[in-house]
Amino acid sequence: MLITNATLVTWGATGRILENHALFIEGDRIVDLGPSSELRAKYPREPELDARGQYVMPGNICAHTHFYGAFARGMALPGDPPKDFPEILERLWWRLDKALTLDDVRYSALVCLIDAIKHGTTTLIDHHASPNAVAGSLDMIAEAVEQAGLRACLCYEVSDRNGPEKARAGIEENLRFIQSVIRNPKSAITATFGLHASLTLSDATLEACRNAHDGGYHIHAAEHEADQTDSLKKSGMRVIDRLHKFGILGPRSIVAHAVHIDPPEAELLRETGTWVTHQPRSNMNNAVGAADVEELLRMGVKIGLGNDGFSNAMWDEWKAAYLYHKAARRDPRRMSGAVVAEMAVTNNAALANVFFPQVPLGVLAAGAFADVVFVDYHPSTPMTVDNLPWHILFGFENSMVTTTICSGKVLMKDRRLLFLDEAEISARSRELAKKVWERFAS
Ligand SMILES: [Zn+2]
Repeated sequence: MLITNATLVTWGATGRILENHALFIEGDRIVDLGPSSELRAKYPREPELDARGQYVMPGNICAHTHFYGAFARGMALPGDPPKDFPEILERLWWRLDKALTLDDVRYSALVCLIDAIKHGTTTLIDHHASPNAVAGSLDMIAEAVEQAGLRACLCYEVSDRNGPEKARAGIEENLRFIQSVIRNPKSAITATFGLHASLTLSDATLEACRNAHDGGYHIHAAEHEADQTDSLKKSGMRVIDRLHKFGILGPRSIVAHAVHIDPPEAELLRETGTWVTHQPRSNMNNAVGAADVEELLRMGVKIGLGNDGFSNAMWDEWKAAYLYHKAARRDPRRMSGAVVAEMAVTNNAALANVFFPQVPLGVLAAGAFADVVFVDYHPSTPMTVDNLPWHILFGFENSMVTTTICSGKVLMKDRRLLFLDEAEISARSRELAKKVWERFAS
């Protein structure tokens, strides 16, 4: 397929904006790019997809999400609002995840995946929990991801919060799914080993996870002070030190949040090459505080941008990051657009490449995965590679994504989903969510 009449935004080390260019895609890869006229002459028999001058850029990447949270949408908690993050977990998330069946897991994922296609997010790193439907839950999600045609790295969050049997089941589900991905490799689906958070994991369970698996983990850490208090009580160590003691950190591991860490913990994250993900919308919503992202980046900690189950419209997360740190510190110099782009573009691509190492991601270049979106944006001021992050922050809207392509397959064209029936999936999701809400309340 030849995408013609495109204004290419390449990202990558030598980011460029190239007008009237074309992209030649074969299979799931980008094979060539160049001026439209040149590529038309070079590949005369290729079917053309006319971008009509739109911006054509790599699909967005989400570094940390929760497909299982979709049924919380519209849910109002009865009684007084939760007073802090531990109460939010107890009263919302740890009740919602227990109410999920395998069918719910599938539809909850599909709803998020539709959202991702519509808003141009093509790679997602998910963190799943459904304690009463553990076995096979990652297969359900993988099937949904395949049906949607997107790219995802999946894991199940092991936790002691529902007893030792569920913790064992979680370990089993991670191992089983990791093995299945190794036995039957797929270019768009991969796996890591999930852990909930230090505060719901005993030493014994952390050790069991470490003994069962040695290849990177995906865990929440220091999202709220409670994680530190718990860790100090359990072990006399701070969260990051405790995770390090159990071998959880490393260049294939993701620590989500890291809001409440001290400088030695930050240093340990840097030393071990552990990935950190930042989720500003979630941090604001849970009122857990603002991680010192800029200082961590300056130190050399690798930080990507996730959404923690908020909409898969990553430019909304860009905007939240840009505004949050200014508001939190009352300092308009904080969190420049370039730093947001460093996390969301450069670092997210490098993180995605940890899990999909075969082929470059998040860049328009020969040899990269053909994960591409069209954006119908008409800048009213000069736009260059250098000020592009600020155009995204102040000009781009997620609804401007008109076409989404993943692995060379057109999933949405001119805002029409080609493979998923949104009305039907939403209707089924509403039926299932109603029952989830009833179980949640009982
Ligand atoms: Zn999370």
